Amino acid sequence: MSLSKQIENYLERSSWIRKMFEEGLKLKKLHGPDKVFDLSLGNPDLPPPVEVKETLKKLAENYNPDLHRYMPNAGFPEVREIMAKKVSKEQGINVSSNEIIMTCGAAGALNIIFKTILDPGDEVIFPSPFFVEYFFYVENHQGKPIPVRTQEDFSLDLQALERAITPKTKAVLINSPNNPTGQVYTSSEIEGLANLLKEKGKLYGKTIYLVSDEPYRNLIFDKVEVPSIFKYYSESFVAYSFSKELSLAGERIGFVAVHPEMSARAKILDGLILANRILGFVNAPALAQRIVAECAFARVAVEIYKKRRDLLCSMLEEGGLEFVKPKGSFFMFPKVPMDDVKFCEILKEELILAVPGRGFGVPNHIRLAFCVSEDVILKMRPNFLRACERAKE
Ligand code: PLP
Repeated sequence: MSLSKQIENYLERSSWIRKMFEEGLKLKKLHGPDKVFDLSLGNPDLPPPVEVKETLKKLAENYNPDLHRYMPNAGFPEVREIMAKKVSKEQGINVSSNEIIMTCGAAGALNIIFKTILDPGDEVIFPSPFFVEYFFYVENHQGKPIPVRTQEDFSLDLQALERAITPKTKAVLINSPNNPTGQVYTSSEIEGLANLLKEKGKLYGKTIYLVSDEPYRNLIFDKVEVPSIFKYYSESFVAYSFSKELSLAGERIGFVAVHPEMSARAKILDGLILANRILGFVNAPALAQRIVAECAFARVAVEIYKKRRDLLCSMLEEGGLEFVKPKGSFFMFPKVPMDDVKFCEILKEELILAVPGRGFGVPNHIRLAFCVSEDVILKMRPNFLRACERAKE
């Protein structure tokens, strides 16, 4: 076999989402795409806000061929200025453009952070259930992923996190609003985590970084507040993305923001910029940078996601499933009354696609992504309720 052992192993480990994707294609071919209810993929389906199209028009009308050239690896200085304003507003701390590196989405942001801070064997702790790619992003840079279970309601289990921190811990990675649970951590959870990292850092005589993955920061419901990480902990990074709040997932655009008072700030920034270059990203896409500079404060119609969430919650209630009502993102992670893989099989027979919770590190749950229309949710309701009945047999 010419494949590397690691990639062979990864193909096996990442099989849940792939499996669902392939099953989905098969089902859609067999029954027609409109007969299959696919809630397995977190691919934003809402159109980008109107500002995006207006910006594209403006860029085409005043076309400047220089737009497409190489630029500094950290991104266009004027775009970084605007991102600094956005982060300063959202985090409540003054951040300058020097502390912003434009990246290929949050995925690019996380990879350059880990490339910059990890030595082989360094541990990165993250709450479980988790975004599956975290394992790969940490291992890409020879780190060791350490998942730690959240509480039943998916809030942070600070005691479990405390037990997991060792002299080898280099970073804690959190994601709020969360994929796959929709949970948003409160300011007291963030404060508690920050205090824990300060204490353990002192104990072990080292810096433990906090990495906050925030692609869903502005997809929030019911006026929930997403607390600032920067206010509580100076050894922190924000990995940001426009994939979800502007529905620009295919354009690969986001950034890293570094806390202005991080102790090794200047060296870390140099490291991040170099990592952006040598990981092969070189720089974030030029056109996408121009778009987000004009649309940094716009967002998709979040109330549509909220309506879908409410419809799904009422369906789950009627089906008798236990769930935590999502406060943000476009995911939910209900508990199921049987083995999660078997439950997904039953759902599939009812032409509904969902991902088994074990794919996110927590079995006996399923992940539903509400990137489908209200109409789809209403149409699938009888099928879903039938699946819940069948699961009780
Ligand atoms: N982090 C989380 C929690 C995600 O859900 C995703 C995408 O689904 C990403 C990071 C990567 O996002 P991006 O498209 O910005 O790379």
